[in-house]
Amino acid sequence: MKLTSEILKAKAKELGINCIAIGNIERFRNAPTLMSPITYFPGARSVIAIAMPIPRGANRGIEEGTHWHNYTFYTYNKLNAFFRPMKTYQLSCFIEDCGYEAVAHYPAVPEGNGTTRRPVAEGKVPPDVVCSIRVIAAGCGLGEIGWSKVFLTKKYGPRVRLGLIFTDCELEPDPILDTGTLCLHCGACTKSCPGGAIPDPKDENARITVDFGEKKIWFGDVQMGRCTLSHHGMNAECSPFLKKEFPNMAFDVRNSQMTEEEAYILSYSVAGAKWGRKPGSHAVIDYYNQIIDHTGYFSICGAKGCIRACNDMMEKAKREEQSFHNPYYKKKSWALPLQPAAKPAGVNPYREKYLDEHYPGIRENEYVCPTAKKK
Ligand code: SF4
Ligand code: SF4
Repeated sequence: MKLTSEILKAKAKELGINCIAIGNIERFRNAPTLMSPITYFPGARSVIAIAMPIPRGANRGIEEGTHWHNYTFYTYNKLNAFFRPMKTYQLSCFIEDCGYEAVAHYPAVPEGNGTTRRPVAEGKVPPDVVCSIRVIAAGCGLGEIGWSKVFLTKKYGPRVRLGLIFTDCELEPDPILDTGTLCLHCGACTKSCPGGAIPDPKDENARITVDFGEKKIWFGDVQMGRCTLSHHGMNAECSPFLKKEFPNMAFDVRNSQMTEEEAYILSYSVAGAKWGRKPGSHAVIDYYNQIIDHTGYFSICGAKGCIRACNDMMEKAKREEQSFHNPYYKKKSWALPLQPAAKPAGVNPYREKYLDEHYPGIRENEYVCPTAKKK
């Protein structure tokens, strides 16, 4: 059967895919080798990009400061790794029923690819090439990479996760959107980002430009180390869990220059850590341990600036087709103070709490040097 863009989009709609766009392979000819669809499917003629919505309500628990797992499960990890791939799988099967090969993109990120491993054979590139899904989706005309680097769509604004399929079927491409079609360059993301990771949209030196040949696009050069630290719970301003376990810490993420990889190493080490002297499960941070055990992933910031604040601005500016009866923000968003409330007393809070409860008074003068006392 001859497959056309029209037939493909009608099938996508039947499968429940509301955002879809198609790019021709020529737009990606200059992509870096380690991020190019052509590297792993040299016969590709077209790229299909889809977006699946993040329900607005899935962010509500973090907005209220009462519930975190919905964000990790429904808007991030399972949407990227399960709900959305179901659709790219079904659409790939349809393309192959029409007699064309379809390579669905594996849900991974380019910076995590195996460039420290040897190629499988002489002359091959390092293994596990992963393209930048956002850049390719922008090149298909699915939407626009917003100033915050989060992908914006006409229907759902920044509340989406993306999927790609490469095929050897030649399809009619959609136009690439001009930068500024959807992004307001309003700076709401910059202002609300708890990690100070998103530059000021007025700063022209902070732009990253991508050239698709027929069109150039640009977006902000986000400091990914700061974002990763905040997203993965190392920022006390947006993590009550970190604040509870380390109330005296004042790690200034906003001024950190850690790389993304350093930030991952630190945050995942803390999240998986156990400390023998801590009572109970020994987990250094109970919630991080629990959510990782459950989903294999965890997100704590809840995209306060780049999705929540951005979505609010786009709704107000009527740049999102999906509309709601009530505004997203019903009150000012919460933020915790970075600095400790007071200089802490004591050395080991677990031991001191236990002794004070079970042996009141036994610690009297415990940490006072006898010589100092005499004076
Ligand atoms: S909040 Fe959204 S619309 Fe405004 S600058 Fe940031 S990405 Fe663009
Ligand atoms: S996830 Fe959080 S820290 Fe990262 S850019 Fe978005 S708002 Fe900022």
